[in-house]
Amino acid sequence: MTWAPGEVVVHQEVWRDRVWAARPLVVVEDSPDRMLFWLPAGTVRKVPWTPPHRPDPGEGTARVLDLLARGDWIHVDHVWDVSCLWILRPGDWHAVWVSWLPSGERYGFYVNLQQSFRRTAVGIESMDLALDVVATPDRVWWWKDDASS
Ligand SMILES: [Mg+2]
Repeated sequence: MTWAPGEVVVHQEVWRDRVWAARPLVVVEDSPDRMLFWLPAGTVRKVPWTPPHRPDPGEGTARVLDLLARGDWIHVDHVWDVSCLWILRPGDWHAVWVSWLPSGERYGFYVNLQQSFRRTAVGIESMDLALDVVATPDRVWWWKDDASS
């Protein structure tokens, strides 16, 4: 089964058989060699959050680690702020995101380390692997979220 350009599919991240996060993606290309998706600024996605019955760790990484360990997350809405083209190839443990600012100026590249994607009935599934690479249009790059730097 392949998706047609313009169709909206769902990207789900799953941890221990529970949906961790989910977002809609617009199909640009679905071919045997690669999948391209458009994620426009303003897209509302579902992200994990601390349930209201207990204190929130208060900081992003601490919250994520706490939720992954406890497995009790709830979902809240989050608005995506930069338009992105996602480039995925079967078997790759990363996706490349090319991003643009609202002005149309290119924002840069983001290499999102993630499990290789698999197709589902509604789109694709792949779990984020936390550490990412950020690169500018002139190809200067650095690790994002690297605690050692
Ligand atoms: Mg990531």
